[in-house]
Amino acid sequence: NADSAMYRAKEIGRNNLQLFDVEMALKAHEKLRRHEELRDAIARGEFVLHYQPQMNLKTQRIFAAESLLRWQHPQRGMVLPGEFIPLAEETGLIVPIGDWVLNEACRQNKAWQDAGLPSIVVSVNVSARQFKERNWVSRVAEALEVSGLEARYLELEVTESLIMQDVVTAVATMHELEALGVHLAIDDFGTGYSSLSALKSFPVRRLKIDRSFVQDIPDDADDMAITGAIISLAQKLQMQVIAEGVETQAQVDFLAASGCDDIQGYFISRPVGAAAFVALLAG
Ligand code: C2E
Ligand code: MG
Ligand code: MG
Ligand code: MG
Repeated sequence: NADSAMYRAKEIGRNNLQLFDVEMALKAHEKLRRHEELRDAIARGEFVLHYQPQMNLKTQRIFAAESLLRWQHPQRGMVLPGEFIPLAEETGLIVPIGDWVLNEACRQNKAWQDAGLPSIVVSVNVSARQFKERNWVSRVAEALEVSGLEARYLELEVTESLIMQDVVTAVATMHELEALGVHLAIDDFGTGYSSLSALKSFPVRRLKIDRSFVQDIPDDADDMAITGAIISLAQKLQMQVIAEGVETQAQVDFLAASGCDDIQGYFISRPVGAAAFVALLAG
């Protein structure tokens, strides 16, 4: 009857609620555990930088590398940034982690120079949380000073969305960084929403064309049109332009014919550890 049906419905509701609570508690616990693991990863020396070479299309030489963070987890093995950067950003741990990356990239680049290898630019990805720290510019200056690396061998990659969160402040910070002699690049260009009129006020040296526009070249005519347009935009704004995620000869041919300066992607090399990168640089 209706009464017992009501009773059953309440009972099910209660059980579901309990199940839901347990699940929530487990999720919260798991998240706390991940947070603690991530927090301790720096002190435990579990982070490592990999380097992905960038090649100039005219000279065919490797002239730069992007540093990409990896977490050597004791149980989970090599963890990629997609799996821990979001939590690091959410919790603010990206600030100390980002400091580690910045200092390690500068130290490593200087060590390569001291070892007599050809001098290259090493780029570091900067997240919005870091960039907005009040003393961000002095942290960069300090990393250069401690490592002894000349500023022109450091590049910082920021995204359009980072800049557009607060254009006025971001542009001012970019000018301070430029005054240090550090180079700036816009990462994942084309996926954000920066207006073209704002773009001309950014003191950036390079645009990095997002991999999503490159991956379907030469099959997707729209992507080819967009890539070509970004290249000519960069040229007109006197910026360098690099294509990310280049995997095939056909892509290289299209980019070279379109006047793209540089390429980065599996076609040249995957991101590799420091020792393997030295072999690429020396070879
Ligand atoms: P990103 O800065 O756009 O880096 C390029 C990503 O594309 C890297 O993924 C790289 O391994 C991958 N990639 C490069 N060439 C190719 C290719 O030819 N094909 C394909 N399929 N993929 C390619 P990764 O290393 O997993 O990094 C992902 C993202 O994590 C980066 O995107 C960057 O936004 C972020 N990230 C990495 N390291 C750091 C860091 O030290 N700090 C911060 N804040 N973010 C970082
Ligand atoms: Mg990047
Ligand atoms: Mg990118
Ligand atoms: Mg990206």
